[in-house]
Amino acid sequence: MVKKQNGTASSIREKSPKRKKSIENGSMSSARERSPRKKRNNEEKYSIETHLIYGRSFTPKWEYSHHVVPPISASATFRLESAQRGALGFLQFAHTVNNEEVEVKAPIYIYDRLGEPNKEMLEEHLAYAEQGETAVTFASGMGAISAALGILTKTGDEIIAHKLLYGCTYELLTYWYPRYQIHTKFIDLRDLTNLKKAITPRTRVVYFETPVNPTLELIDIAGVAEIVKEENKKRKQNERIYVVVDNTFATPFCQRPLTLGADFVVHSLTKNIGGFGTDMGGAVIGPRWSKDKLLLYRKDFGGVLGTKSAWTILVYGLPTLALRVRQQEKTATEVARFLASHPKVQYVSYPGLHTFPQYELAKKQMVDYEGNFAPGTLIYFVIKDESPEGRRKKAEKLINYLAKNAYTITLAVSLGNIRTLIEHPGSMTHATIPAEEQLRKGIDPGGIRLSIGLEKVDDIILDLSEGLEKI
Ligand SMILES: *Cc1c(COP(=O)(O)O)cnc(C)c1O
Repeated sequence: MVKKQNGTASSIREKSPKRKKSIENGSMSSARERSPRKKRNNEEKYSIETHLIYGRSFTPKWEYSHHVVPPISASATFRLESAQRGALGFLQFAHTVNNEEVEVKAPIYIYDRLGEPNKEMLEEHLAYAEQGETAVTFASGMGAISAALGILTKTGDEIIAHKLLYGCTYELLTYWYPRYQIHTKFIDLRDLTNLKKAITPRTRVVYFETPVNPTLELIDIAGVAEIVKEENKKRKQNERIYVVVDNTFATPFCQRPLTLGADFVVHSLTKNIGGFGTDMGGAVIGPRWSKDKLLLYRKDFGGVLGTKSAWTILVYGLPTLALRVRQQEKTATEVARFLASHPKVQYVSYPGLHTFPQYELAKKQMVDYEGNFAPGTLIYFVIKDESPEGRRKKAEKLINYLAKNAYTITLAVSLGNIRTLIEHPGSMTHATIPAEEQLRKGIDPGGIRLSIGLEKVDDIILDLSEGLEKI
């Protein structure tokens, strides 16, 4: 192995035959396992969780063999050494399809918006965590969602989406895309017969979150993928339908949609993958062929993930994902049970409860890397009162009490943080959906979303029970 330290890709590397050999062998993200890094170090005997801490002991993206932690790249532009090397760099950029040779070679970095080492290392790890072929990062979850939909649709196409989505995704589909004559049909994807009926020759994308934000209903990923696969058998390649799943709520620790037949996964890295609430980020994970399109989209629309945020997610977020989520799930299960037994709570939606209406699907679909049931870290619950307005008022009262008095519960949007966060979807994250539609889509005026952090479970329950006493 070459021990030379060097901050940027250098042409010297490419001349070294030894170096070339290890580069060709180093593909962790590739579904076609060619990784002698594994063979060399006998790494296949270790678990995915451990791999997410160490990442690759070798990456063609950057040499930093004397650092334990990868350094932060802080260079917007890169030295090209010769006109020929510069020209080659531009020639190679976004030319990975049908050209594996180029992808696995040490890249020629040109300019941060095209690519740099921190993002690319994070992308390798994200693809691996989701068991996908390739990943491209973006400035935020919305940046990733608009890029995935951006490369898959054009004027005249149709999207089929679940009736309930994250507020900004809903606005993207209902306010912006119609301006380009891209229309979305919202249906209840929990019933797959609806999907069969909704598909038309113009359909290009089936889009959903599971668990759904904020109600935590589930969509059967394998069921959707099966229907789309059947439909695609009748279609030409350029008329194919793609299944895109927002896996932000579950994280790859609890669910890997690509292994269940989805084509693309999108993420807000701002949430539980980042984990500490310090940085925004997004990612699209999908088939190898999509990489160049996503890179070109990112280059021209410009929603590029900052290197420092990529570094934070790579160094703190992903390596602690399993540890955090496993603990948060345990706490969430206890908190959900507490809420479910509380007289002032009408109902609790948490996929880990036996009473969860889609419990069987949850057990099948939400499993960690070792196959254990992994129902996630979010809880949705509705305050009890006869009238919707009464429920709304009581939810508001509880949230206001907790915002003022609770030590372990913070009133804030976002989720997947080490701190427990509470919010009122009806007036906050999902406020872009008109009130009368909210109820139809399953958002109750008395609905509250709770994102479980790392506090002791007894302390969270203490704060919640004090708050519930006051309403
Ligand atoms: C937060 C969130 C997004 C948007 O992510 P940003 O990083 O805030 O842009 C998309 N989908 C879901 C399910 C989310 O929770």
